[in-house]
Order: sequence, then structure tokens, then C-alpha cells
Amino acid sequence: MKIVDVRCHVLLDPGYEREATSSNQDTIVVEIVTDEGVTGYGETDLNAWVARACIEAPGMHTMDRGLRELLLGRDPRDPAALWDELYVGTAMTGRRGALVHALGALDIALWDICGKAAGVPAWRLLGEQAHDRLVPYASLLPKSGGSADEFAQTLVDQAVWAKGFGYRAAKLEILTRGPYAHEGLSASDDLMLEVIAAARRAVGPDFALMVDVAYGWKTAAEALRVIEPWAEHDVFFLETPLWADDLDEYAKLAERSPIPLAAGEWLATRWEFLDLMDRGRVHFVQPDVGRVGGLTEALRVCRLADERGLRVVPHGWKTGLTVAATAHLAAVTPNLVFFEFVPPEVAESPLRRELVIDELQFEDGTLGLPLRPGLGVDLDGDAFERFSAAARAREQLR
Ligand SMILES: [Mg+2]
Repeated sequence: MKIVDVRCHVLLDPGYEREATSSNQDTIVVEIVTDEGVTGYGETDLNAWVARACIEAPGMHTMDRGLRELLLGRDPRDPAALWDELYVGTAMTGRRGALVHALGALDIALWDICGKAAGVPAWRLLGEQAHDRLVPYASLLPKSGGSADEFAQTLVDQAVWAKGFGYRAAKLEILTRGPYAHEGLSASDDLMLEVIAAARRAVGPDFALMVDVAYGWKTAAEALRVIEPWAEHDVFFLETPLWADDLDEYAKLAERSPIPLAAGEWLATRWEFLDLMDRGRVHFVQPDVGRVGGLTEALRVCRLADERGLRVVPHGWKTGLTVAATAHLAAVTPNLVFFEFVPPEVAESPLRRELVIDELQFEDGTLGLPLRPGLGVDLDGDAFERFSAAARAREQLR
């Protein structure tokens, strides 16, 4: 089997808002075509136009090959070996950041091909089955622009909704401080505590509540002062309390925090995760299956976490392609506790709602393992065309 084409599709939600804090308004879908009629799809979470450039750019010398060029003519059926070649071949431009995130989309598409070619779900080729069913969690985002009271109430209402819907876990996005704070909300420590206490009262004790503050504090001392009273409300973990690069502050906070820390949504490669774990000392790691470098690299990260006794709760705020890829990772990862999953029918993002069909079914708070060959999902042709047209229209504005 040989790869005969690598196509990049930039997709955009026609109603996208530049002021939204959501990476699910544009996406890149990569399509790897083989000479045997098997086609694989992958996705990754970064600016879709940047991702396309990373893949399509021609190579200029031996330390700067082109990702697409490296794949053409190759047998797709050993993604881990190809990953190493792509990584080394692009090292002078890549190694971290956008190019590794783009490589992730290609790697996911290669695993889709492998599964389809073998007639089995991709996870069967990734490792040993680690779960019978998967436990998803809901990310709860308040609408922006309201008062502090409205902010608190909408978050609590959503926690109640999640429990009623059947979820066993949810994450409160309490974005009241730091670079991504909702406009008009003062960085009120009382408001944060109020939301957590009210949400806990509303969902009762048998429900995992996580909190994401999106890089809210500058120092461990500042964070510690605010989060100490949260512990009595049983917060499962605190996500990205500090800026992604301040690993020494993470270590200081991890040592004294009454709540376990989680981070890693932006990271690329196992080497960034090794820093986060060994220097930053976080308790939960959150690889995003595309951004980290694909299923191949996400698996390596999960294994390194396992060796350290750490648990995994992956990031995945994207279309059904990323959700599907994450489910395959989850299926073979024993130290994976929950994974981010919003059923398409209730998702706010049209890309999440409409791009992929035949998704896993949510039942009693859990999902069954993927059973169809490859990633096990198909794209909706009409939605694909509409989102492609919106992306082309946006390009005309340049
Ligand atoms: Mg987050």
C-alpha cells in the first residue's frame, strides 16, 4: 500500500466570533489517500491555515523536509516509524509547536488507514484494551457578557444539566481572571468560591467536579491563597492555574496545593510533557491527541505518565474527528480517567455538531468503545462543503 496524496481541508464556522474563547470555530481536516482505495482522516487543534502551511510547505534541505513530501509514496501502515521520520526530517522547522501539532493530524489519519486496512477499530492496533466503557466529562462554559450573578448561575445551571443528562463528571470553566477572563468580570475570588460551592451543592457528592481557570494566576502564592477554601468542596482537579511556561511555579503550587493540578492542553511531544511532569510536578496530564503529535505521541505520553503514577484526562475541544481519535486513545490507556466529550446534539460549535456522523452513543454516563474499522467515523458531505465555503470566503477578506 502506498500513499498517493495528502490533502488539507480548512474548515470554518460561518458564524465564528473573533472574541470567543473557543478553538472549535475553525479546523483542518487532513485526508491521506492510498493506491488501494483506503483513505484516512485526521484533525488537529491549531489555526487551520497555519496547519495547512506546515503540511504543504516544500522542504528546503535535509533538516527541513516537507511533511506532505515525506509521506508521498510511503507505506502508511507503520505510523510510529513514520512519526519518527517526520519528526527528524522536519526538525529544523519543527520539533515543537505548530509543526508537531500538524504532524498530529497526519498521524491520526495514518491510524485511521491502518484500522480500515486491517478491518478493525484503530485502538485494537494501538494496544491492549484497558476499559469496557469510557467515562466522558462535560466542559461547562458560561456565556460571556453577563453580570457576575448571571455568570455564576449559568455555570451552576449547566452543572445541574450535566448531572441530569447522565454525566458523572464535569468541568467548570471559571474564567474570571488571567489573560482569557470574561469581559466585565472583576477577578473576584469570592465569585470563584461561590460558583464552586453552589455547583457542589447542586450536584451532590457523587459527581466529579473539576475547575479550569485558564492560566488565571501569575504565582503559586497568589493561587494558593484563593484555592485553599475550595478543597472542602471536593474539587477533582484544578486545570491550568498558572501560565504554561512557568513550570517552577507549578512545582511550588503542586507541593502545597490541597487540590491536584492538571495541565498540558497546549503541549507538543513527550519531551514537553516530561518537563511538565518532572519539573512542573503536576498530578494529571492533559494531552490533546492532535496537538501533542497524534495518537502515536499521545500514547507515549500516557505511558510516561503511568510510569510516574500519574493519571491522564485528555483535552479535546474539537470536532467529532478529534473526539473519535481520543476515544481510541482512551480505550487502551489504563491510567486515563475521564475524557472531554460533549454530545454533538448539545454542542455549541456547529463544527462539533455537524461535521462528523455516526458518533459514539452516550448511555448512562458512559460511552461504548469504538467498534467500526479505523477511527470509525464519517464526514457529513453537506456540512463539509458549507464549512469549506466559509473558509474560502474568509480567505477572500485578506
Ligand atoms: Mg482548559
